[in-house]
Amino acid sequence: MGPQRGELLRSELEISTFEDLLYHYPYRYADRSQITRIGFIDPKSDSVQIAGTLVNITEDGEGRKKRLIATIYDETGRIELLWFQGAQWMKKSLKENTRYIVYGKLNVFNGIINIAHPEIEPWTAETAIPGRQPVYSTTEKLRVRGITNRSFAKLTQALFEKIQQTDVIEVLSADIRNKYTLCGRFQALKWIHYPDSEEHEYIARHRMKWEELFLSQLQIGRLRLQHTAQQGWHFSKVGDLFNEFFNDHLPFQLTNAQKRVLREIRQDTGTGKQMNRLLQGDVGSGKTIVALMSMLLALDNGFQACIMAPTEILSQQHFYSIAELLSEMGIAVKLLTGNVKGKIRKEILQELADGSLRIVVGTHALLEDNVQFKNLGLAVIDEQHRFGVGQRARLWKKNEMPPHILVMTATPIPRTLAMTMYGDLEVSVIDELPPGRQPIKTIASKDSHRTRVMEFLRKEVDKGRQAYIVYPLIEESEKMDYESLMAGYEQVKIWFNENKYRIAMVHGRQDGDERERNMQRFVKGEANVLVATTVIEVGVNVPNASVMLIESAERFGLSQMHQLRGRVGRGAEQSYCILLTGNKISEESYKRIQIMVSTTDGFKIAEEDLAMRGPGDMYGTKQSGLMKFKLADIVQDSDILEETRVAALQLLSDDPALTKPQNQPLRYALSEKNKQSHWGKIS
Ligand code: ADP
Ligand code: MG
Repeated sequence: MGPQRGELLRSELEISTFEDLLYHYPYRYADRSQITRIGFIDPKSDSVQIAGTLVNITEDGEGRKKRLIATIYDETGRIELLWFQGAQWMKKSLKENTRYIVYGKLNVFNGIINIAHPEIEPWTAETAIPGRQPVYSTTEKLRVRGITNRSFAKLTQALFEKIQQTDVIEVLSADIRNKYTLCGRFQALKWIHYPDSEEHEYIARHRMKWEELFLSQLQIGRLRLQHTAQQGWHFSKVGDLFNEFFNDHLPFQLTNAQKRVLREIRQDTGTGKQMNRLLQGDVGSGKTIVALMSMLLALDNGFQACIMAPTEILSQQHFYSIAELLSEMGIAVKLLTGNVKGKIRKEILQELADGSLRIVVGTHALLEDNVQFKNLGLAVIDEQHRFGVGQRARLWKKNEMPPHILVMTATPIPRTLAMTMYGDLEVSVIDELPPGRQPIKTIASKDSHRTRVMEFLRKEVDKGRQAYIVYPLIEESEKMDYESLMAGYEQVKIWFNENKYRIAMVHGRQDGDERERNMQRFVKGEANVLVATTVIEVGVNVPNASVMLIESAERFGLSQMHQLRGRVGRGAEQSYCILLTGNKISEESYKRIQIMVSTTDGFKIAEEDLAMRGPGDMYGTKQSGLMKFKLADIVQDSDILEETRVAALQLLSDDPALTKPQNQPLRYALSEKNKQSHWGKIS
């Protein structure tokens, strides 16, 4: 391949070495063992392979609409081939009155069939019929430059002619391969590209999935070992602040689950080792108070503590509720976000550095290098899944010894995901809601019943409650969302007489101040109704709100709806979640709505969500190096995941530092993997 096309391959698909090419797996295989005679093509078939003589190569159209048309015929009929992109390039490379073999997807237009952007090659008596062929992903840019799927097949074919078994390092020892019936690595790679049967394809894919998951489990297992060996600050006592708060300022009795988690945290931080704990608790289970009391524990032992939330609004809310809880104790709490600037910011930075500010609440802004603590002892991270793994790592550098870390998540994490994403953390669960809560009633309704829904909302508001009305997220490009939010807002203003009711609105296009002002009107009870996008999704706490109306609910994911529903049912009143959908919705949306109506169990919902959506989209896991699997899918391959977890634990208990000779290839593979994901040391 020439330098120009080589460069294109690198920039488009990050392929620049033989190895990269080897790991560019086909995503499916095409059956090219048959040549269909043109007159016998079944218009209903998906793809077809034909052979014949090419004639009438003509260009038509102007500028961007330019296209290339050619006809290919055999003794039974003729069919048109079309190119919309790269017409110039194709025109140069095709010859009339020459025989070609052609493979592509059939289009049927007004009863006439054609093939657009086919794979096409000269066809002589000696040309072999391709047989089962790998299909690789390529990009538009590559295709236009003539680097088609067929070119990839040629490259990989040529590559396999060049290399042999010894060129591919086997990372799994013979013991492991035997024990788990896995084929060799070279064989697997060869069969992934060129399986000679479906069985071999399965064996090959299974082996590479196994390897992916095994490496990731090893990586996690080693992290866990590192954690347990990591020295940490010793919180030796429960001191005055903790006790004073507990005795005099705690506004309610802790639930047993909250007490248990606090005990676990005290145990962890009292060992002299660094704590890395994940706190799972459904929305409304009362994680904030646990975080606060853990922070007081840090202060009692002479340390600073911080709590970090993924959005401005959330960190503000944490800030207000923590400041209020501590208001009578004379402990200063300050807020540091990207919006805190100038003199105030300087002051906070100074106070953090000299240790006079002991509790700080903030966003990612806390991670910036110029935020220096005198002695950070505990970092609480709320709603973890919005933070990348790399960001957790930055906390390590905030003190000479890494702080204790408490990660809190309101989205219950299905077991498979917990094993891959958080396998290195200890887990605490708050599995009990504060007493006196009535389960939220969830109702599915359709646009045609809007009048009734709105009347219901008004009735609730008249009782003194507040209501949320949530619209799908506004993204920069999504003008429609914005328009429907505004239209909705206008409608709500009509439903709720403006003279009598007050309506606030928050969305992503407002600047921070405006959004904050509106949010506060609702939080303080000045607004009866909050019209919003999902910016309010996580964490916001308004106990007096009793109705959550989700507009276009068919467009929301399960976990998202569950989070939104968790915004109500926080007080003693009966609360409602109304899922309003269009009159016609897809089967999948219907299923999601039904799940929401049938359960409020966050774990169950998370499992369903994972099964329906797959792990890639959830929890922002795409950014996490831990989750970058080429082939494996933690839902579909959960049995392999379990198997590799056991295997990894066994291997590490036998050779924790991977120093034994037979484990050297593994060690190497891991260090390569670490290089890719840049997270050598994370919490
Ligand atoms: P989340 O776990 O979703 O972050 P919060 O910490 O925001 O939940 O708590 C939800 C609400 O429950 C808050 O209003 C909080 O004051 C209240 N709460 C927390 N713990 C208790 C408890 N033990 N008893 C009564 N109310 C509680
Ligand atoms: Mg919370």
